[in-house]
Amino acid sequence: MQYVSTRASGAHASGAQAIVSGLAAEGGLYVAREIPRFGPQFLSSLLPLDYPARAARVLAPWLDDFSEPALEQMCRAAYARFDDARVAPIKRLSGGRAVLELWHGPTLAFKDMALQLLPRLMTASGELVGEKREILILVATSGDTGKAALEGFSDVPGVRICVFFPDGGVSEAQKLQMVTQEGANTRVVAVNGNFDDAQTGVKQIFTDPEKIRLLDQRGIVLSSANSINLGRLVPQIAYYVSAYADLVASGTIKLGENVNICVPTGNFGNILAALYAGRMGLPLGKLICASNSNNVLTDFIKTGVYDRNRAFRLTTSPSMDILISSNLERLLYDLAGQDDGQVRAWMGALAREGRYSLDGAALDALHQLMYGGWASEEAVADEIKRTLSEDKYLIDPHTAVAMRVLRTYREETGDDAPVIIASTASPFKFGRSVLSAIDPEAAKRAPDDFACCDALAARSGSIVPDAIASLRKKPIRHRAQCAIDGMWDALGPLTQ
Ligand SMILES: *Cc1c(COP(=O)(O)O)cnc(C)c1O
Repeated sequence: MQYVSTRASGAHASGAQAIVSGLAAEGGLYVAREIPRFGPQFLSSLLPLDYPARAARVLAPWLDDFSEPALEQMCRAAYARFDDARVAPIKRLSGGRAVLELWHGPTLAFKDMALQLLPRLMTASGELVGEKREILILVATSGDTGKAALEGFSDVPGVRICVFFPDGGVSEAQKLQMVTQEGANTRVVAVNGNFDDAQTGVKQIFTDPEKIRLLDQRGIVLSSANSINLGRLVPQIAYYVSAYADLVASGTIKLGENVNICVPTGNFGNILAALYAGRMGLPLGKLICASNSNNVLTDFIKTGVYDRNRAFRLTTSPSMDILISSNLERLLYDLAGQDDGQVRAWMGALAREGRYSLDGAALDALHQLMYGGWASEEAVADEIKRTLSEDKYLIDPHTAVAMRVLRTYREETGDDAPVIIASTASPFKFGRSVLSAIDPEAAKRAPDDFACCDALAARSGSIVPDAIASLRKKPIRHRAQCAIDGMWDALGPLTQ
């Protein structure tokens, strides 16, 4: 499989090269020259398999540097730490809604689905391409990627990792998860800015030839664990395919029947993986792109105009507080019929003016594929409360954004097709917001987020996951802070 840059499709790389480098030529993202397609028996052949075996089958054509047995071995090791043997189980709710629980990994968010596997892919890819330098992974996080990447790469030989998170822009549990991280090769820095600032800062370091040369002299090469890395994206395709197989196996749908997929979206990685699953041959109806009040994607999908010139809002779904969705560039490349010049023009306009617009065939193709909607903070709280009372099911605010937008979509269109809803985090990661939605008075009385989680566990008849409960006792190991323009200096000891 050959990969090309969305901004310079002349040059190409193998999957292993794309994973090691993270970002492609001219600041573009790696995309497959041609998306692999399932054979006729592919989906039915998955039915008897477990999750790691299914994932290896989906990954194999994308990452053909590796054999399928080698991939399966990596997947088995990656998903062994999950607290549910099914890895990504489905919870069926009323109205043909299938909630795909993607948060059974060690950090309780869907990022583990890719980030437990990425370190294995990265190490194997490094060996394959003969990379002798230390790999320095830079991560900008809106809350969940940071911890999942730290957990995946902590103490991996030949790798160092630095995570930048927006100070004040993540939940209490998210912050504690990161600043208590162990591992001699880890560094965590609070940036005095929002997620977009942190992500832009990381991209600037990546594209600064002077810094790259300096690092090279010290035997260090940069890579990324953000969803711009191909090795993040490809493992995410697998769970949509596996969920479809589960729905067929349980008799919920017939093989070949279309499903809609609804995804709470921030950087556009998760929903892009669903789109790629469809391009591979998964019977897909509509993709429903759900945003919180940072609704730049909703406007884009409705009008074709992407305009980031608007106020950045802090919400109860912080992992979606994003105005520059990096992976949208991969969708644009697809919509533009693989025209890298067109993508360069759009991205240039975004960098210069903060906006660009699609029209004609590209906009028609977008509408064919997707519906975009958003949920206000009140709607999110209402959805959490309603789902607990109607379905006896506790959801986190990100999942609630998706559930509410799906409700609106169904009301507007009357399309009640079976739907897979990506549930991206455990409610216990956002204990205070979830309890506030259900019982605002109890949340006000609770002294801290741990008390909120205890109250939630009692109300929902579940237990607080150990990944949260254990944070109470862990010492804080990372106190570094920096300004937006101080990110390079903040790398400090990792660049020596
Ligand atoms: C990262 C994240 C999202 C957004 O996913 P993207 O791939 O960035 O669109 C949604 N919900 C949660 C809980 C997340 O951690």
